Amino acid sequence: KHTADIMGIPFPKITMDQSVQILSEVVEKANKELFHVVTGNPEIVMSCQHDKQLRSIVDEAGLVTADGIGIVMVSRLRGGDLPERVTGCDLLYKLLETGNRKRWSFYFLGADELTSQRCAEVIRSDYPNLTIAGRHNGYFNEAEEGRIIEEIRSAAPDFLIVALGAPYAERWIYKHKDILNAKIAMGVGGSLDIIAG
Ligand code: UDP
Repeated sequence: KHTADIMGIPFPKITMDQSVQILSEVVEKANKELFHVVTGNPEIVMSCQHDKQLRSIVDEAGLVTADGIGIVMVSRLRGGDLPERVTGCDLLYKLLETGNRKRWSFYFLGADELTSQRCAEVIRSDYPNLTIAGRHNGYFNEAEEGRIIEEIRSAAPDFLIVALGAPYAERWIYKHKDILNAKIAMGVGGSLDIIAG
């Protein structure tokens, strides 16, 4: 079996490197559909137990990662054996590294304005060969949301990184997946705050 079932969520038994490899292939393919990466943390797994909509978002995701040691430990207790944890933040760092080599483009949505700005500065200086296709803070109203979506659409980034808090980020990505024009979208929780330092 290629997946470990944790409370009904099938986690693929893959390492960090394999996760990055899968996403590299998605970037290279000319895919029409947005590929949604869900960081499967305990909160999301628990919410899926009673939230059918969230459950279907997770079921339809291209990749669900084992976000945290808790998920990996539970899988081991049940003989499911996930090889290692693949947290959203670690995965994002790996993607920035790989993107710096492969010249991928990223749009960063979320966090407060200062964090969003600092994060862009840090990434520009640490990963100079990737493209920051755009960024916007995560505190916007409906009118602004329309403009943000337009900006993402015309930027057509390889990666849309969404730091709006879980599971709101996952719902936001799902709701707009057909119009975002990004190859891959991933909710990352507080990762932009970590990168901004
Ligand atoms: N955030 C945001 N808009 C909101 C709520 C949260 O941009 O309306 C950002 C917040 O600034 C932080 C990130 O979402 O950078 C993750 O927040 P939190 O740590 O609360 O979420 P979790 O880690 O539980 O997903």
